[in-house]
Amino acid sequence: LLQLYGPLNFLGSVYSAIRTAMVDLEHMFGLVEEDVEVADPLHPLPIAAHLQDSDAAEVEFRDVRFGYGPEREILHGVSFVAQPGKKLAIVGSTGAGKSTISRLLFRFYDVWSGAVMVDGHDVRAYRQADLRAAIGVVPQDTVLFNETIGYNIAYGRLDASPSAVEQAARLAQIHDFIMSLPEGYNTQVGERGLKLSGGEKQRVAIARTILKDPRVLVLDEATSALDTHTEQEIQVALKTVSARRTTLVIAHRLSTIVDADEILVMGQGRVLERGTHEALLAAGGHYAAMWAAQGAEGVTERLAEAVSR
Ligand code: ADP
Repeated sequence: LLQLYGPLNFLGSVYSAIRTAMVDLEHMFGLVEEDVEVADPLHPLPIAAHLQDSDAAEVEFRDVRFGYGPEREILHGVSFVAQPGKKLAIVGSTGAGKSTISRLLFRFYDVWSGAVMVDGHDVRAYRQADLRAAIGVVPQDTVLFNETIGYNIAYGRLDASPSAVEQAARLAQIHDFIMSLPEGYNTQVGERGLKLSGGEKQRVAIARTILKDPRVLVLDEATSALDTHTEQEIQVALKTVSARRTTLVIAHRLSTIVDADEILVMGQGRVLERGTHEALLAAGGHYAAMWAAQGAEGVTERLAEAVSR
């Protein structure tokens, strides 16, 4: 029996890792209905999944051209490098191609030409499951199961010990909230249990990702504005999870990416501008205009909040 247990246990954790990756990804990309055809290579290269076992990964897009259907090219030659452990932010209006970039990183589709590279190799050289195990995602809107909140966090790694789950929850700034619930970590959540707010769900997603410990992180920032206090807690949690990991942020609020190592400003499938926050402001282009516009919005929001107190 013991001999059988080892491999089964191993398969079980592989299976759960794949399932975890798939639920969030499918949800994030609305891919459940889609039959995506990408094939695993015959002799896949190995790729380390966890940061604790390896360094952060390098992510590169090399002159990537891509479209969902043959009649329309969506990305017209996109190039960038996210250095290991650095934070790359992608901004731009709706339809600019930001989500398409993250879908290609996960290899939900293959590029028309050019290459998506992780650790210096084309993503087509890896097994899909291995690639997706190395990338974590904090989606805009997290799927919760009709289970305990403890299970919902442990879902990031179902073999995690209760103390590892609690440690992840602390780092994600959600432990105190959980302890305030009548049944703590055993409180039922989801449709048939306690409803969590958007900010709480996001922190559950962050705790899951801390447990998963991926080498690359994709943050799909929520579009909806949270109150200032929740926003601050989330930013602290996100800082923890993105520390030392190569992080791609699909950003909606420029205030959250002023510290990014590089910001790509996308428009209609092209990189229009790139640089740090300061450099882009100094350049006085699209980014500077967006910053001026959002700055004004921010002032209005803060005024509204002050008045409502
Ligand atoms: P963003 O994330 O910047 O809002 P997307 O990457 O989602 O932009 O979309 C870029 C373009 O690709 C848009 O014109 C969009 O309509 C198109 N697009 C996105 N997903 C699909 C899809 N599954 N099939 C066909 N076209 C798509």
